[in-house]
Amino acid sequence: MNNQSEKSSNGKIQNVVVVGGGTAGWVTASLLSKVLGKSINITLIESDKIGIIGVGEATIPPIISLNNALGINESDFMKATKATIKLGIQFENWGNKGDSYMHAFGEIGKNFPFCEFHHFWTKSQQLGDQSSFWDYSLNYQAAISGKFSKINNIEGTNLPGISYAYHFDATLYAKFLRQFSENLGVKRVEGLITKVNQDPQNGYIESVDLEEGATVKGDFFIDCTGLAALLIEKTLSTGFDDWSQWLPCNRAVAVPSESTDKIRPFTRAIAHEYGWQWQIPLQHRTGNGLVYSSKHMTDDEAKEKILSSIEGKPLAEPKVIGYRTGRRRKQWNRNVVCIGLASGFFEPLESTNIHLIQTGAIRLLKFFPHNGIKNEEIAEYNRQSTNEYERIRDFIILHYKLTNRNDTQFWRQCQQMEVPDTLAQRMELFRESGKVFREQEDLFTEIAWKQVMIGQGGAPHDYHPLVDSLSEPQITELMANLKTLINRTVDKMPSHDEFIREI
Ligand SMILES: Cc1cc2nc3c(=O)[nH]c(=O)nc-3n(C[C@H](O)[C@H](O)[C@H](O)COP(=O)(O)OP(=O)(O)OC[C@H]3O[C@@H](n4cnc5c(N)ncnc54)[C@H](O)[C@@H]3O)c2cc1C
Repeated sequence: MNNQSEKSSNGKIQNVVVVGGGTAGWVTASLLSKVLGKSINITLIESDKIGIIGVGEATIPPIISLNNALGINESDFMKATKATIKLGIQFENWGNKGDSYMHAFGEIGKNFPFCEFHHFWTKSQQLGDQSSFWDYSLNYQAAISGKFSKINNIEGTNLPGISYAYHFDATLYAKFLRQFSENLGVKRVEGLITKVNQDPQNGYIESVDLEEGATVKGDFFIDCTGLAALLIEKTLSTGFDDWSQWLPCNRAVAVPSESTDKIRPFTRAIAHEYGWQWQIPLQHRTGNGLVYSSKHMTDDEAKEKILSSIEGKPLAEPKVIGYRTGRRRKQWNRNVVCIGLASGFFEPLESTNIHLIQTGAIRLLKFFPHNGIKNEEIAEYNRQSTNEYERIRDFIILHYKLTNRNDTQFWRQCQQMEVPDTLAQRMELFRESGKVFREQEDLFTEIAWKQVMIGQGGAPHDYHPLVDSLSEPQITELMANLKTLINRTVDKMPSHDEFIREI
């Protein structure tokens, strides 16, 4: 077989095969059919024998733009997927046992030209103000009050309103998108792939054989086979960057439970001795899971811990899932692009996996090689994906590194570990100067970084000099006015429960 990196195929791409029908497969098929459905043929292969991973319930705000791009009606989507609203993630016991803060979506306070709000908050803290950073977050105040309303701006001001995402049943989302894609002409083939056939010259994938005897040919393949990574790894041996030296958890046990009285509009991420636990409220049940390091905890201990700490009655047996944190070395190799778990995995701490499916599929649309595969395009696609993955990696590591917990060996190791330089520099810059900057492929905005750093004990020592252009009484007045505006807005909002009932 020749070295493919020396070659480009000049053949037009007409027949696209999506392999896998989980969230990754159906999101990709939906976007491709919506945008390119008139010019390409799309086939999706999935195997009921294997099924889908069937976990993954929390998302982040960009999912709204995905649904909008597909033209999906929000009420239909929320009904079909039993969705609730998510205003942020409450992190408990991370910086210290007993601590709690939220990565709330949306902005906090009021930013000034050249000087963001947290600089004013830092000064006001130095003046003796006891208020929390989150007193100035509309999302946080609405979340803890169990309120929700779609507002773009705080009334009578240009301050941003509510920013939200969803908790939903990912299995139902895949079903919903299957119908959507089939309506747009995607052909679904049921069958277990038993053999992958490559061009002996360049290693490109030509077809896949199904157990029942059929062969499905294609010009371009999208590997959405989940942790199996059937094409990108088992066939093309692309390689995997393992990040477990920074992210030590490698197993999760998931169990759904009966809903409790009130449905909270936020996710809970509660740190425990050897990892953390999630709690995600849906309309019909609560999703729970325990993420842990197998070096410190057995599966049986994890099952026992999760069953003893969930709020409602369990609705199924706990399901253990093993994983490796990291990413495929190339997201695009020869005529295969991988999306979803086939392309890499992050523990669901910041709900990034479904988002990475969305950005992978959108990137593929931007780079779609309709006139043949060019090595330059592959290289740029892979560069962008690498940057995106690495910036998310740093953000997730931050949660483990920035802790004062030393109650177990697990947390002591996290506290002492060497982190990637890119992260170390960001942490240092913020601590010393209060400055934080977002890079181009960064998913998480400055405000997300600030919340985790402040929330876990890394509040800045200094603030921007522009703050001193306001007198102390002016700063006090600014802070008080902002609080009043936010509280008044939350008071007028209906409850999240009412919003869900209306849906
Ligand atoms: C414990 C846990 C919690 C998570 N929580 C979240 C969360 O809160 N938020 C979030 O964004 N993400 C979360 N995720 C990630 C999320 O579950 C996945 O990103 C999402 O489900 C996408 O999965 P997938 O489509 O890549 O793979 P899968 O759902 O596993 O689908 C793989 C598909 O490939 C098919 N297939 C495989 N091999 C073959 C074969 N030989 N022949 C034919 N078909 C085949 C299967 O039949 C299936 O259709 C979580 C993941 C885990 C493990």
